Amino acid sequence: MKKLLEGKTPANEIKENLIEEIKKLKSDGINPTLCVIEVGDDPASKIYLRVKRNLAKKVGIKEIGLHFPANTSQAELLEKIEDLNQDPSINGIMVQLPVPPQIDPRAIFETIAPEKDADGFSPFTLRRLWAVQSDVIPATVRSILTLIDYYGIEMAGKNTVIIGRSVIVGKPLAAVLVERDATVTIAHSKTKNLSELTKNADVIISDVGKAHLVTEDMVKEGAVIIDVGMNRENGKLMGDVDFDMVAPKAKAITPVPGGVGPLTVASLMKQAVILTRKQHGR
Ligand code: NAP
Repeated sequence: MKKLLEGKTPANEIKENLIEEIKKLKSDGINPTLCVIEVGDDPASKIYLRVKRNLAKKVGIKEIGLHFPANTSQAELLEKIEDLNQDPSINGIMVQLPVPPQIDPRAIFETIAPEKDADGFSPFTLRRLWAVQSDVIPATVRSILTLIDYYGIEMAGKNTVIIGRSVIVGKPLAAVLVERDATVTIAHSKTKNLSELTKNADVIISDVGKAHLVTEDMVKEGAVIIDVGMNRENGKLMGDVDFDMVAPKAKAITPVPGGVGPLTVASLMKQAVILTRKQHGR
């Protein structure tokens, strides 16, 4: 039987659990606080930020939004992050991407203190993922793991091809799936004969940002397909996978929208609470 790996139901479960967990923390005088930094006025970022703000409010996280003008220098931004690192009332820090071109996102990832790294993008977090099991992981990776666990997808020994090697998804995802005994290959733009790899894959996870990248002829019968990509075509949101053609072959597949996406903001809030607990020795 084919399975649609929809993300809304597990996302709602995360939210309900967070509401209860945060109530308990607050009754002990702990008020989880997430600082969200926006640089410039990217319209798509404004939408994501509104979604984050609404969910934070719903689950009981105090969200502090800081807005910097588009011409803010990297030094000014990093100085503010250093201040927040020192501020004991702030449990998590994240900077909404993309940032203006004068700011290198890697400098941001390196400056946010690992213990306050809500997005899980710091080099420390990534190194740690390869070295030991860690409960601090990038939100999108947590979303993918949530789907895998919620729908009972067995990863041990599975030939898994991750398409995309970004530091926010592909690389950390490879680390956590290796930890779950999957046999992982990471493909990227220089990979030759991508379809030779995907045709042998039990699990394909695409995180590229190119509509129609994964087509029916690239997928074996009974594969599990997780589509992280988000692309707009003729005003319609779609993933990297040719859903209509690939779905009949797949054992299980995520829709876009409605798969990984709905889980990502919930995963970020969960991470903010994990950081809060760790900072309070819980
Ligand atoms: P990114 O940093 O641009 O990384 C894209 C990756 O795709 C790169 O590693 C690139 O290879 C690889 N690539 C490009 N063309 C390719 C091709 N033809 N064949 C194989 N690999 C190719 O992007 P990102 O930030 O990871 O985001 C990727 C997509 O995921 C976007 O659509 C984004 O919107 C989406 N996303 C969704 C969520 C969610 O919550 N659903 C969260 C995060 C991201 P090189 O390294 O060689 O350039």
